[in-house]
Amino acid sequence: MEQIITRFPPSPTGYLHVGGARTAIFNWLYARHMQGKFVLRIEDTDAERSTQASVDAIFEALNWLGIDWDEGPYFQSQRFDIYRGYIQKLVDSGQAYYCTCSVEQIDAMRQKAMSTGAKPRYDGTCRDKGLTSPDNAVVRFKAPPTGTTVVEDVIKGNIVFQNDELDDFVICRSDGTPTYNFVVVVDDITMHINTIIRGDDHVMNTPKQILLYKALGSPLPTFGHVPMVLGNDRARLSKRHGAMSVTAYRDMGFLPDAMINYLVRLGWSHGDQEFFTRAELIEVFDLANIGRSAGVFDLEKLQALNAEHIMAASPGDLVAPLKPFMDKAGVDIEPGNYIDQVIETLQPRSKTLADMAAAALFYYVDDIVYDEKAAQKFLKAAALEPLRLLADKLGALADYTPSGLEDVFKAVMDETDLKLGKIAQPVRVALTGRTASPGIFEIIAIMGKDRVLPRLQKAIQFIEEGQD
Ligand code: GLU
Repeated sequence: MEQIITRFPPSPTGYLHVGGARTAIFNWLYARHMQGKFVLRIEDTDAERSTQASVDAIFEALNWLGIDWDEGPYFQSQRFDIYRGYIQKLVDSGQAYYCTCSVEQIDAMRQKAMSTGAKPRYDGTCRDKGLTSPDNAVVRFKAPPTGTTVVEDVIKGNIVFQNDELDDFVICRSDGTPTYNFVVVVDDITMHINTIIRGDDHVMNTPKQILLYKALGSPLPTFGHVPMVLGNDRARLSKRHGAMSVTAYRDMGFLPDAMINYLVRLGWSHGDQEFFTRAELIEVFDLANIGRSAGVFDLEKLQALNAEHIMAASPGDLVAPLKPFMDKAGVDIEPGNYIDQVIETLQPRSKTLADMAAAALFYYVDDIVYDEKAAQKFLKAAALEPLRLLADKLGALADYTPSGLEDVFKAVMDETDLKLGKIAQPVRVALTGRTASPGIFEIIAIMGKDRVLPRLQKAIQFIEEGQD
């Protein structure tokens, strides 16, 4: 079988949005699954709207997602000579022609067609004039006036277009610049792309592109048009639904694997399975299971999936992605300062890396600040005795291990005749400032005597002072 070659051709007129990312992911996964090739092409022929900042933003987003390409990036703006050659080919073979009709003439054709209820279309004035490269002429493609063009779409099934609706479209403007549909086809042919998965906002372009493939004598690629991503009100996803840019999700603390998992599931399924690792997706992704109905972007589902990916990751792999969030909070997590253990305690309780960073701060601050309600409820007279006993016993404890710590707590429970819960909550507030945290033995073990004892002393003092 022929090697599968897919592509992602973003227009650099803004950041990479989640819909575009999903298209990239589909093409990338399919190429990886089929051991094919994935080509990156920047469609920057619209010089006014294309910017270097957008090109950089697209690379940054793809890099963050871990989507790598085997060829490219190609830039359309650097390929004008190639396009010119193909235009000449079509003119020479009589499949395209120069047209000198003025804007006013075209307008008049349009008005005339519309007055009879027909679609506005070029009437073929210059079609058979045989003009040779006149000044200020456009080049038009000689589209078949009758018959149909069928898009055999692997997702939507056959879509039939009437050729009389396509008319002789322009492939080269009077300033010599080729038009969008033309350059896409020349690129896809010369880059040997044989599988094109893209958003169904492009489906209207496909019959024109198919006619160009045929005119150039090239085999058709496999086409698949995926439904748009919708917001929760079922309107096309847009800024008013929330963040659109892929990197905004990085900055909110989502993992690239979770983002990929979520976006793939928004339009593709594999039985009922929701959670996929990247390797599993490469293993099982196929075109047959891309759905026909539009996916609805749901932030809560993405968060739930992110929590699962955080849980499944090895703590060491979370250090680097967590670091920027800790940096922002003013904590420098160098390897060695027990960050792996800290992460392990927080994995079961973090939806995002931002959550994780917020929950990790207590491990690192020098001066713990008590949540007011937590202190009111738990740092009071009744807690004095257990806290003092615990501080004494921990201070004297040689075997500072989970089992040694458990013995200490047992001894405090015996001496005070209190249940573990009554002791644990004041200790938790003393150590973390809050009433919710990872397991109390876990955090005592991880923080070590040098951090635990001063915090217990501080809480004891806080209660004593409150009693005056
Ligand atoms: N440049 C187009 C876009 O960004 C993609 C065109 C295509 O996939 O054929 O929407």
